[in-house]
Amino acid sequence: MTELLRAPLFHTPRNPFLQDRGLESHWDGGLLISDGRVAAAGDYQAIRAANPNATTTDLRGGFLLPGLIDTHIHFPQLRVLGGLSRSLLDWLEECALPEEVRMADESHARGIARRFIHALASHGTTTAMVFGAHFAPATAALFEAAGKSGLRIIAGMVLSDRRLRPELHQTPDGAYRDSSELIRCFHGRGRLFYAVTPRFAFSTSEAMLEVCQTLLREHEGLRLQTHLNENAREITEVAKLFPWASDYLAVYERFGLAGRGTVMAHNVHPTVSEIERLAASGTAVAHCPSSNAALGSGLFAMKRHVKAGVRVALGTDVGGGTGFGLLKEALQAYLLQRVAPDGALLDAAQMLYLATRAGAEALGTENEIGDLQPGKAADVVYIRPPADTPLSAVLERVETPEQALAAIFTLAGAESIQEVRVEGSVVYRQTAGGPHL
Ligand SMILES: [Zn+2]
Repeated sequence: MTELLRAPLFHTPRNPFLQDRGLESHWDGGLLISDGRVAAAGDYQAIRAANPNATTTDLRGGFLLPGLIDTHIHFPQLRVLGGLSRSLLDWLEECALPEEVRMADESHARGIARRFIHALASHGTTTAMVFGAHFAPATAALFEAAGKSGLRIIAGMVLSDRRLRPELHQTPDGAYRDSSELIRCFHGRGRLFYAVTPRFAFSTSEAMLEVCQTLLREHEGLRLQTHLNENAREITEVAKLFPWASDYLAVYERFGLAGRGTVMAHNVHPTVSEIERLAASGTAVAHCPSSNAALGSGLFAMKRHVKAGVRVALGTDVGGGTGFGLLKEALQAYLLQRVAPDGALLDAAQMLYLATRAGAEALGTENEIGDLQPGKAADVVYIRPPADTPLSAVLERVETPEQALAAIFTLAGAESIQEVRVEGSVVYRQTAGGPHL
């Protein structure tokens, strides 16, 4: 089945931080999808002429973007969104951890999993790297809901054996056993993949970090996700817990946990050496600007990371962040960089790259997803603002693709996400009677 979608389209096949003309845009755009793959992306008339038999779907009035990629988000924290006015460690103790304990109840976990996956899709996110729960059945519930949805989900059971709450702690042996079983059940099943997930060095002993290393060695293609240098108090505590480590990153390096396929969230307070080592090892950083601002963690040194060659992508960090929208997250990155000392001045192409292709590069899946080049999976978001909204008014008068894209990042929320596809198949469509999955 070959289908030709007609609408203005944008994607960033090249890194706009490194090259001019990173943004590719087609005002009268065509996206030819064949068997779930992008067969062509470009000018509608040219693609139409070369493929006269393709079924055309006229989507003019809206815009096509690659599926959005969220590289840092917590499944059990859906209901703690909005816990403002605290810093990281107090927020964990008072808001996040009590809610995460409730994931011991499997039926509760199933309900949250369904709503969590729906929220991803309804915000245009087609791929996400997700912190599961501290409990295996709840993490399995996340994978099962993800499997039914068609989204690409990389997730893992969260591992900790100290300093949180006793209900959330596992033994290293138990963590190994449960993780191995979850890997056996879900890793590589359809669009699901497993990420070994030590919560952060603050809550994991050396024995637990060794378990993480063992799991990575025992299975092909696993990813790893954790947190790094988020908050000043956290960093001081980690230094006390691992007195042999020269810095925070060195804790993870000792156990072979840095490198390609690893995503470390935040890195708001890095040393010069840490930035250099992240770049050298290909370790990615998930930048979560809403969370960094909401928890008062600090301002991310985007320029220093990019200049050093660190892979930087975006994460919403629900529930330390402020919601599921990656478009809003890219805007938040823009806003914080605007006021940061020596901040980067982000343009619309860089914002799109951060929300799409940069995520694919961080996850090591850039050959499969992240832009709309021929051969890629047809993961697409169709954005069309409702009539009589500020965004629809702005889009009436824009004169260039860059202006349209900047307006979308500034004003588009979930109400403007009309349709979301993964490998060409619709995984979410907003209907007149309200959204459904
Ligand atoms: Zn986080």
